[in-house]
Amino acid sequence: MNPLFITASGALAAAGAIAYGAVHPRSQLFGRTICRTNSPRKLAITFDDGPNPAITPKLLDLLERYNAKATFFLIGRYVRECPELVKEIIARGHTVGNHTETHPYLLWLAPTQVRVELRLCHNAICNALGSPPKWFRPPFGMRNPWVIPAARELGYRTVMWTLIPGDWQEKPVEWLIPRMQPIADHAQRGLGNGSHPAAGMGDVLCLHDGTHRQINGDRSRTLAALEHWLPRWRDLGVEFVTIGEAVSTPAL
Ligand SMILES: [Zn+2]
Repeated sequence: MNPLFITASGALAAAGAIAYGAVHPRSQLFGRTICRTNSPRKLAITFDDGPNPAITPKLLDLLERYNAKATFFLIGRYVRECPELVKEIIARGHTVGNHTETHPYLLWLAPTQVRVELRLCHNAICNALGSPPKWFRPPFGMRNPWVIPAARELGYRTVMWTLIPGDWQEKPVEWLIPRMQPIADHAQRGLGNGSHPAAGMGDVLCLHDGTHRQINGDRSRTLAALEHWLPRWRDLGVEFVTIGEAVSTPAL
């Protein structure tokens, strides 16, 4: 075989492995992350890119109707614009986490820039709440060798997901609803059959209550899809928990 070809394919394989490590939600290549809950009964619903005054208050009401607790990964510059909404998220029993100050592609940032992005959002949340968050989610799920260590320096655990239905896409709710079906399938399998590989673990669902482009982004389809699913998931025996409850309290 042409040695040039071997070198080229080796380089491609290496590039592929790095790309996998950087963006695959369950890759542990660049540091340990949380991807699942510790029980098939527990679903951790997470929302990125808020707080969003146009959607988050409606979402809080919807979650309350089903006694659902969730985790909100907030963008620092939005936190500064609506600190009262951040306080309300906490007052209503949810958890908040750091989603950086401006939502950049961390993959391309130098270590100092990554630290600044994390620190500014950290400070914004601390100023709003008086206490630091413990959870971090990288924008676009992207990591490099210094993202997770930089988060750890500030005391964060990094949270990824098992399912990301793509609710940021400009598609109708009829498109989004079936993409959230795996949550029901996993819950049915995990709760119904202890020997199934999914037994002992539950999903972390990644949705969006905001958009990183503007503060009042339209996420009404995310709301509508949840309105469809929350009662159905509840009827399957699923509990909606914060990420802290999903990993630290004893599994049921
Ligand atoms: Zn995001």
